Amino acid sequence: MSINPFIPKPFTPFQWAGMEGEKSLKKKIRRLQAAVAHIPNTRMKSESIRAAILQAFLSRGDRRVGQLLPQLAAGGNVKQITKKAGLSHDFFVTRERDSTEKFPWEIIDQGVKREYLWHEYQLAQQQKFTTPCAPGCRRCGVCS
Ligand code: SF4
Repeated sequence: MSINPFIPKPFTPFQWAGMEGEKSLKKKIRRLQAAVAHIPNTRMKSESIRAAILQAFLSRGDRRVGQLLPQLAAGGNVKQITKKAGLSHDFFVTRERDSTEKFPWEIIDQGVKREYLWHEYQLAQQQKFTTPCAPGCRRCGVCS
């Protein structure tokens, strides 16, 4: 089985969510690996936690993160590079955003209304399902 950390992404209901911290993720992966080790004929694979955090950092970063790309591409440590640049790594990765925060990616209109994504985020936190797409629906803004 493949188990990977959840990475909140732009233009999804989880664009407001903080990613879980590195220590906690590592602990959970270790716990799962220990549990899976007792199941016959089963292996567990998981993405590198560091790679997942880098992905989270890049996917919701702003122009300041853009300036760090050459250093990151050269293979530097994301936390050290961020700190050296006077930025907070947690600000981009683990911080939960509030409903009013404007995001750098919102200069692009991809069709789905922000209010709809926020509503879906609230539903997800309450572990509630959303109504499926249906003919005549105008809910999210994509269909006209
Ligand atoms: S049917 Fe269209 S408008 Fe309605 S939720 Fe689905 S994609 Fe959005």
